[in-house]
Amino acid sequence: MKRRNFIKNASLTGVGLAVGNSILGCKQEQKEDENTVEASTKALLPLVIATWDVKNATVKAWETLQNGETVLDAIEKGCNVEEDNAEGLSVGKGGLPDRDGNVTLDACIMNSEGNCGSVVYLQNVSHAISVARKVMEDTPHVMLAGKGAEQFAYESGFIKEDLLTEKAKKAWNEWKIKSEYKPIINIENHDTIGMLAIDKDGNLSGGCTTSGLAYKMAGRVGDSPIIGSGLFLDNEVGAAVATGLGEEVVKTVGSFLIVELMRQGMTPQQACEEAISRIIDKTNSNYKNFQVGYIAVNKRGETGSFAIHKGFSMTKYQENKNEKIESDFYFKEP
Ligand code: ASP
Repeated sequence: MKRRNFIKNASLTGVGLAVGNSILGCKQEQKEDENTVEASTKALLPLVIATWDVKNATVKAWETLQNGETVLDAIEKGCNVEEDNAEGLSVGKGGLPDRDGNVTLDACIMNSEGNCGSVVYLQNVSHAISVARKVMEDTPHVMLAGKGAEQFAYESGFIKEDLLTEKAKKAWNEWKIKSEYKPIINIENHDTIGMLAIDKDGNLSGGCTTSGLAYKMAGRVGDSPIIGSGLFLDNEVGAAVATGLGEEVVKTVGSFLIVELMRQGMTPQQACEEAISRIIDKTNSNYKNFQVGYIAVNKRGETGSFAIHKGFSMTKYQENKNEKIESDFYFKEP
C-alpha cells in the first residue's frame, strides 16, 4: 500500500501515525500527508451525533457550538432538550416508571480531559445530565445515587418536579393489567439519548440520559450512567454511546470496547459492528428478543452506527446538515 493511502486508512491515533512514520520516515512526504489529514479532518468538524431521531436535540447542540460555547455545554444543552420533552416516554420528564410507578433517571457525562460524572436512580429532577455534570465539576466523586443524588441536585439549585406525566401514568396502568416484563424491541422504552460531539478543534464530549427500561424492578440501574458501558470517550481516539438492553451492554462494557477497537485501527462502523457481534456471540439466539444499538465517532469526524435489529437510527449534524440516518443491523430475517 502506498504510504499516503496507509496514513489515510490508518486510525488517526498516535499509534496509527507512529507506525506509519516509522515504516517510511520521509519528512517531506510526511508533512504533505499531515496537511492532507488535517484538511480533511477540518472539513468534517464540528459535528454532533445522537442515538435515535432527535433533530431538535442535535440542533440545540450544534447552535451551542456555533455560539462559541464549549463542546460540553453542547452535550448538556442538547440532552436537556429531550429531558424537557414530556411527550417522550424514555428520557427525563415523561419517562415511563418502574413497575412500582417511580420515575427514576440515570445519566452520565464525560469531557475531553477524561473527567466524568454520573447520577443513578435520580428522582424528581428532570435534568439528570446537568446533575451529572455538577457531580463531575463540583464534587470529588464520579457517581451519586438515589437520595444522595437528589439531595445534591437541590443543593445545586435544581427544582423538585413530578416526573410522572398523565401519559406515562396511563401507560403504566395499562401495563399493570398483565404486569408482564419483557424487553420490547424499538418501542419507546429503548430510547436512551446518547450524544457525542466534537468541536472545531477536535475536542470531544459525550452524554447519555435515560429513564431506563420501562417497568424495570425498583432499584434497577442499566448501562446508561455507567462510564465505559453506556458511554466512553478518549480525546485521542474517539467516543461511543449505547442504547437498548442495558444488561447486555454492561456485560460486554460496550462503549469502552468500541473506543479501544478504534484505537487499534478500526473505523467507527467496524468497531460498532464488532461490539454488537460480541453480544451476539455471548447470547446464542437470545439476541433475537432484545435490541442494542451503538453509535461512535473517531477523532477525525468519521461516524458509525450498528444495532442488532432493524429500526435503530442516528441523528447526525455535520457540515450544516441535520439528518436522520437509518442504522445497519445484524439480524436480517430470511
Ligand atoms: N439502555 C437503557 C437501559 O438499559 C435503556 C434504553 O436504551 O432505552 O436502561
